[in-house]
Amino acid sequence: MVEIVDSHTHVSMLSYEGLENMALAGVKKVIGCSLFFGAKHAQTLFDHFHQMLTLSLRNAAQNGIRLFVAVGVHPMGTPEDWPRVVDALPNYLKMSNVIGLGEIGLHEGSQREQDVLKEQLKVAKEYGVPVILHTPPQNRIEITKKTMEIAASVGIEPGKMVIDHANLDIIDLIEEFGAIPGLTIRPEGITPQLLLNHLERFQRGVLNSDYSNLKPNDPLSVPRAVRYLELNGVPAEITARIARFNAEELFGI
Ligand SMILES: [Zn+2]
Repeated sequence: MVEIVDSHTHVSMLSYEGLENMALAGVKKVIGCSLFFGAKHAQTLFDHFHQMLTLSLRNAAQNGIRLFVAVGVHPMGTPEDWPRVVDALPNYLKMSNVIGLGEIGLHEGSQREQDVLKEQLKVAKEYGVPVILHTPPQNRIEITKKTMEIAASVGIEPGKMVIDHANLDIIDLIEEFGAIPGLTIRPEGITPQLLLNHLERFQRGVLNSDYSNLKPNDPLSVPRAVRYLELNGVPAEITARIARFNAEELFGI
C-alpha cells in the first residue's frame, strides 16, 4: 500500500478513532482545512484555528499522523467581521504547521462571497502560499469560472491553487487554467470506479476525503480508493502521484 496524504479534511470534526483508523489504513499526512459552520464572529474562527493547531495536532501525532493546517474564511461560515480574520491570516502563515489558505471560495457566488475570496487570495499571493478552493454542488461550471476570474484578477499563480471537489464537469476547465484538481472521494463526488475509469484525466490531482460532519462522509475514502486502484492493476507509481506526491510537492510537506 502506498503512503497516503489526505489533502483536505475538516480535522476538528474528525474523531480520535477516525484518525486512528486513517493511520491504520496507511494515511501518513493530513491537511486540516478551516470550516466552522455558521461562524458569526472572527473570534470563533480564531478559536477554531487554535483548536486545530493544538488538540487536532496532538491527536494526529498520537496516532503517528503528521497534520498540517490551512486557515481561512469558508463561505459556509463567514463572520460578520470577516476582515478581522483576513488581517490576521499573515500571522498564522508564519506558524510552522500552517501550509496555506483553505478552505476558501464561493458557495452561492454572492458579491460578499466574492469579496471575501478576493481579499484572501491577495494574502495568498503576497505570501506565496498554496490555496485550497471550494466548489459547490450547484451551478458548478459558472461558480468555477467565477472563481478563476477572481484568481486571475488577483494575479495568483494557478499552479498554487487546488480547485477542489473536481469532477468530469469541471476537470477540463481546471486543466486549462493550470490549477491542481482536488479529487474528493465520496458517493456523490468521485467514486473509486469513476477515478479508475478516468484516471488519465485526474492524474495531476490530489486525493482527499473532505471529511466533515455536514453530510455522510468517510474518513477512509482515500485508502479505499487507493486499494481499489491497486486491486485493479493500476501501477503503484501512478497511484502514489495522486495519493501522495502531488500533494507533498504542492504544499511542501
Ligand atoms: Zn471541505
